[in-house]
Amino acid sequence: MLKIGNHLSSSGGYEAMGKKALELGANTFAFFTRNPRGGKAKAIDPEDVGRFRRLAEEQEFATLVAHAPYTLNPCSADEGLREFAKNTFADDLARMEYTPGNYYNFHPGSHVKQGVDVGIRYITQMLNVALTPQQTTIVLLETMSGKGSEVGRSFEELRQILDGVQCSDKMGVCLDTCHVWDAGYDIVKDLDGVVAEFDRVIGLERLKAVHLNDSMNPMGSHKDRHARIGEGEIGLEALVRVINHPALRDLPFILETPNDDAGYAGEIALMRSRYEQR
Ligand code: FE
Ligand code: FE
Ligand code: ZN
Repeated sequence: MLKIGNHLSSSGGYEAMGKKALELGANTFAFFTRNPRGGKAKAIDPEDVGRFRRLAEEQEFATLVAHAPYTLNPCSADEGLREFAKNTFADDLARMEYTPGNYYNFHPGSHVKQGVDVGIRYITQMLNVALTPQQTTIVLLETMSGKGSEVGRSFEELRQILDGVQCSDKMGVCLDTCHVWDAGYDIVKDLDGVVAEFDRVIGLERLKAVHLNDSMNPMGSHKDRHARIGEGEIGLEALVRVINHPALRDLPFILETPNDDAGYAGEIALMRSRYEQR
């Protein structure tokens, strides 16, 4: 069965997200572990998490793909901001243990004129402080579009980060279809080639999740503007090939498309209808 869902609001708690996912036809989902702009996280209600975990087990939910606040910049030139990123990251990992064994995805950050090598050093430093051998959560680096000075615009940059992390077995990658397209990887005409390149540079065993988005812009534009499935430059047929690709088809797929609930339910149903039973 296709593992698919969308990004849900976490404001009502875990059980509410589980019920919303079911309502939309999803069997996984993404959520922000705290306000996406950072700031203090709401206390976790263990009873709410307990109800959610029973529901997720009954309904055979796939692995969840939590998302770090997108304002975190682990490679900022400002030491205070790097410190904030580190503390938030560590606190989020502690929160993730309420729902053991899921994924926590984050944007590597922007090096802002310091150069990519300095950026990568700061990112690995943060990961080496925040990750612990005991955690059950796998931390995912997201492939980025290369907007501004974003780190993670190529598979090579992600590989460099992975190489610097001590708790290497706690690390994976989340491939965002809009971002890799905007970064210049041709998943429309040569999906096999892009998957082979990922395997050569990073290794497919690191690939844990996919953000399934169309893109408003042409390949290599470095823009990062998501479009609804079939309404962008990638197009429906290319995204159908993504969900059915032998190296990708068993991963959780998360929609981050500009939609309301009805729109997400429609995209989930559409992708399910195009998933090949094997
Ligand atoms: Fe993201
Ligand atoms: Fe994404
Ligand atoms: Zn994006």
